[in-house]
Amino acid sequence: MKIAENTVVTLEYTLHLGDGVIIDKSEPGEPLTYIHGLGEIVEGLENELEGLEAGAKKQVVVKAEEGYGLRDEKAVQTLEKSAFEGQDVKPGDEFIAVDDDGEQVPVKIVKLEGDKVTVDFNHPLAGKTLHFSVDVKEVRAATEEELEHGHVHGPDGHHHH
Ligand code: ZN
Repeated sequence: MKIAENTVVTLEYTLHLGDGVIIDKSEPGEPLTYIHGLGEIVEGLENELEGLEAGAKKQVVVKAEEGYGLRDEKAVQTLEKSAFEGQDVKPGDEFIAVDDDGEQVPVKIVKLEGDKVTVDFNHPLAGKTLHFSVDVKEVRAATEEELEHGHVHGPDGHHHH
């Protein structure tokens, strides 16, 4: 079976940013499993996996535009220190904040100056070209229930009570 819309794909991967230093990978015995076509993984990678079968290995280079997007300098903002409610922050700190829409956004502290804190709301991988090495382990049709829920069930996926 080939990877196409509404197939469940199990794969192992590594990711580097062009210098060969692996910054992310699937752990041994814990492959990534996703439903193809739902935008669960970065767009540029999803497009390049289309049509592959179990056993395929592929190097995929994804431009920032089809990865985590370009950097937006407007996403670098200065906030009052009081916005952090006494939390101890220092330059280089990274954490997950929740925006007005309830979405999780990664935040990085850029600098502290008096009671002003400069923060960067860009994704840490924004503006980066992504180099994936992918090893496709399994491709199967998604069940109706999985498509209805929008996530994978079963031994490698999510379980219901
Ligand atoms: Zn479910």
